[in-house]
Amino acid sequence: MIEFVVDLDTFARNLRTIRDRVAPAQHMLVVKDDAYRHGLERIVQRAVTEGITWFGALDVVTGVGTRAASGPEARIFTWMLAGADDVREALAADLDLGIGTAELLETVASVAEAAGTVANVHLKIDTGLHRNGVRAEQWEAFVARAAAFEAAGVLRVVGIWTHIAEASDADDDDQRAVYEQAVAQARVAGLAPELLHLAASAAAFAREDFRYDMVRIGAFAYGIRSTDGPSDTELGIAPIGALRSEVLRVANIAVTVDGGFADGLLSTAAGKLNAATPGGVRRVSAVRADTSSIEPWDGAKAGEQVTLYGGAADSATDLAERLGTIGEEVILRLSREVPRRYKTTS
Ligand SMILES: *Cc1c(COP(=O)(O)O)cnc(C)c1O
Repeated sequence: MIEFVVDLDTFARNLRTIRDRVAPAQHMLVVKDDAYRHGLERIVQRAVTEGITWFGALDVVTGVGTRAASGPEARIFTWMLAGADDVREALAADLDLGIGTAELLETVASVAEAAGTVANVHLKIDTGLHRNGVRAEQWEAFVARAAAFEAAGVLRVVGIWTHIAEASDADDDDQRAVYEQAVAQARVAGLAPELLHLAASAAAFAREDFRYDMVRIGAFAYGIRSTDGPSDTELGIAPIGALRSEVLRVANIAVTVDGGFADGLLSTAAGKLNAATPGGVRRVSAVRADTSSIEPWDGAKAGEQVTLYGGAADSATDLAERLGTIGEEVILRLSREVPRRYKTTS
């Protein structure tokens, strides 16, 4: 038996830490990739209970799933739209649309007009990552076009946004300068966006002047800290997911537990991960396709439970640091076949 146990009360505490840290900016909870594999439905439901009103869903499938779990009041932002069919589906589910190309702006306007609705859009300026977003050279024409569509009543420009690298403060400062310029040009074009947003977890926590009206935080909400950044304690967050497994066999040299969690990258985790066992912390000595081994402890027996990562074991980010990657990458390698179990501690 192997399962991914998600502690919803710890999740709620992380959300409160984030709220206290970023207020008065709002927290858009990012729920892409099935809520970073923690399971979209239960995460969204608990977040609504905790007062989250904005969700960041990446694609339309996730947006529609978020709508189903959140109810009609929540605002849901999607920013990966493949074409007219995606836009139609997104508008039908009352999703906000992130728009990073002039072509998509035209598509949204014509789909909204045909559907007789007003699309809520957030215009994206490319501030240097070159991953989608309108380049500074094209921005003036882009916002003029958006203003014309807004005047025609087919869309409403709710926000202006970008995504920053969070790799160095100096680069982020440069990106923010491009962003500021874009916002000023949008205002000159007659737009009055009520939500400016650019920061994700790391910048939102570290840099007050990057928070604007809203921050888009995923990782920290799930207790996934940045590699080589502040500790969980410094941030005031804790991992909410723990990979739990059952002891199958005990031998002198190793305890074999169920569930290889090896998926490419993770097959190199042997020797780099400290599991939590009933006998204390022990090193994971082998990771295979369907079982793993842990250094033995006194009195180990079949049926006992161990935690491979999360909880009292190393965190996903601890492991990521030793593998030269990021915590999200470790979590996302978790197979969708591993059942999720939800617990509340209080
Ligand atoms: C994933 C993502 C975020 C959240 O980033 P975290 O580092 O997980 O907080 C924010 N904005 C965009 C556009 C994203 O793709």
